[in-house]
Amino acid sequence: LIPQSEDAARGAFARFANEAISPYAAASDAAGAIRPECIEAIRSAGYLGAFLPRDVGGLGLDAVSYGLLTCEMARACSSCRTLMTVHDMVGSAILRWGSRELRSEILPQLATGSLIAAFALSEADAGSDAAAMRATIRRQGEDLILDGVKSWVSYGQTANLFLVFGRSEEGITAVLVSGEQPGITRRAVTEMVGTRAAMMADVRFEACRLSPHSIVGKPGFGLTHIAQTALDHGRYSVGWGAVGIIDAAFAACTAFVRERCQFGTPLVTQPQIRVHLTRMAALARASRLMCREAGLLRQARAPEAIIETMLAKYFAAKSAVSAANAAVQIHGARGLLRSGKPERLLRDAKVTEIIEGTAEMLELLIGEQVSSLGYPI
Ligand SMILES: Cc1cc2nc3c(=O)[nH]c(=O)nc-3n(C[C@H](O)[C@H](O)[C@H](O)COP(=O)(O)OP(=O)(O)OC[C@H]3O[C@@H](n4cnc5c(N)ncnc54)[C@H](O)[C@@H]3O)c2cc1C
Repeated sequence: LIPQSEDAARGAFARFANEAISPYAAASDAAGAIRPECIEAIRSAGYLGAFLPRDVGGLGLDAVSYGLLTCEMARACSSCRTLMTVHDMVGSAILRWGSRELRSEILPQLATGSLIAAFALSEADAGSDAAAMRATIRRQGEDLILDGVKSWVSYGQTANLFLVFGRSEEGITAVLVSGEQPGITRRAVTEMVGTRAAMMADVRFEACRLSPHSIVGKPGFGLTHIAQTALDHGRYSVGWGAVGIIDAAFAACTAFVRERCQFGTPLVTQPQIRVHLTRMAALARASRLMCREAGLLRQARAPEAIIETMLAKYFAAKSAVSAANAAVQIHGARGLLRSGKPERLLRDAKVTEIIEGTAEMLELLIGEQVSSLGYPI
């Protein structure tokens, strides 16, 4: 049974999303830029860095509550959910691996949203194979020099803090780079059709001079520790985001099939339409339960939390694509209208199968683990 407190939290997050986010989602998507009032609402509600502990200014939400918040945000707008995802991926990496100085300097600013953080791992020739990255971090006297071009950086157009990964003598290293740093140029990526309002950019770092204090964790720990923590957080967030998309698809369909009449009767009376709705309801329930289970394991700091998070993200992302596809189908021609909701949900759902580990990469990672260690069914 779901405890009452979870229902209450979900209700509060849903009201926020309905009032402050939903009304602007279609316009943000059409403009390819999140509306400033959404960022302001998220910021002033304390929903940036909401998982951060209270002593650094966060709301200290437990993992399940944080998941419910993410889900409601995505139900309203996946581009807003993306803001929370990437900002909090950076926050989670600093919280876990940052020096005491970095934690006390940066985390309070992430919690208030005075800093908006972006995650810069991918490159044109280093996607799933992140270890193939070309960006470099060289020592020059006391300083570090960062050079490289990062691709597909969500909120790269506007972020004022980047977590960037590059090759150093010790291996791949993670550094924090201020958006004000000389040597940064941003090229907006306007052709991306999924999470269109997430202000994506390719970001060039050219001879960026950094202090050694900007290193997160130890030099050489970039991929093995820092990126893994961030990606684990990102998968949890994206899994819940996918649940939000399924909820939105289901709600749009149940409203539509009661209104739309063909053959003299509302579509809801047609058995095949009910089959679509049944499948969507099952996908919604299963995805939600898997994400919630992953959340409970995260709260318990159980080692299985990592694989349960991967499984939940994998399943919820596939379910979101399936549910959004069904929503387009149920709406017929209207489902493909740019001004309608189903086609946006389908574009945004597809993103969840690609980011924070593609479906295929998760199959490799989960497959490796379950075939060597087994899996408690
Ligand atoms: C909307 C959006 C937002 C994004 N935001 C960010 C961001 O903020 N920061 C960031 O760093 N990156 C971001 N990315 C990039 C994202 O992380 C990459 O797209 C992802 O890692 C996949 O890399 P790729 O696109 O280069 O595909 P590739 O790695 O080239 O893969 C192409 C296809 O081949 C498959 N494939 C690859 N290797 C294997 C294998 N060994 N076995 C089987 N199949 C394989 C993949 O699963 C995929 O289907 C974003 C992407 C999107 C679409």
